[in-house]
Amino acid sequence: MLTPMIAGNWKMNMTIDEGAALVRDLREKITGLSGVEVMIAPPFTLLQHIGHLLADSNIKLGAQNMHHEESGAFTGEVSGRMLTDAGCEYVILGHSERRHVFNETDAMVNKKVTAAIREDLLPIVCVGETLEKRDSGRALDVVRSQIEGAFTGHGPGIIKKSTIAYEPVWAIGTGRTATPEQAEEVHAAIREHLFKLFERSAAEKVRILYGGSVKPGNIKTLMDEPNIDGALVGGASLKAEDFAGIINFAG
Ligand code: PEP
Repeated sequence: MLTPMIAGNWKMNMTIDEGAALVRDLREKITGLSGVEVMIAPPFTLLQHIGHLLADSNIKLGAQNMHHEESGAFTGEVSGRMLTDAGCEYVILGHSERRHVFNETDAMVNKKVTAAIREDLLPIVCVGETLEKRDSGRALDVVRSQIEGAFTGHGPGIIKKSTIAYEPVWAIGTGRTATPEQAEEVHAAIREHLFKLFERSAAEKVRILYGGSVKPGNIKTLMDEPNIDGALVGGASLKAEDFAGIINFAG
């Protein structure tokens, strides 16, 4: 049985003061929480400050992206080493906005996974099909190929430290959630594919999160599915009440 994870992706939102207020509010709403791992991924400029505010809590800190090199002439980029230094434990890689707005490829995600593990960061690798691919019946092919792209060449040591987030592109920030059945179909296919590609003892440790317009009102039915191990939450992670409502899904 994997510990469920609820992760919040703040994207390019929040100043330091706004983020601090959100964290204070959230902590009050989830005191005494157990049985679920919580992570938040603020923008780079807030990481260290928010990390200090989380120091005596059970909320983990993550980043939204990183560069695969350790340091050097890569203007505007942030390395995994810098993220660990700022207090991160997790890093989100290959988010659909990175893939579609910033042209990130599977090969780039693959290098970032290697670099993340090298720097002691736990990668959360995002995969998901566009509406066009879903409508043409290719959702499972897309997701399987993104998983192969991100993890090819990696051994069980890397696989077992990784989390996968299935985020159908058509459900991100649109208010349109995949039905629990639609999500479960893909999650089950991902699980099966991991078992095919990697040693079972490593593949069975991989949590598969669902992401795409998750809200307090739909988290419970999603979490009832056998292969949904948590959620990656965008918009609803920006409001303490909504995020706490999702975290407390078990009621
Ligand atoms: C996301 O950014 O990963 C996401 C799932 O966003 P939203 O919850 O807003 O759809």
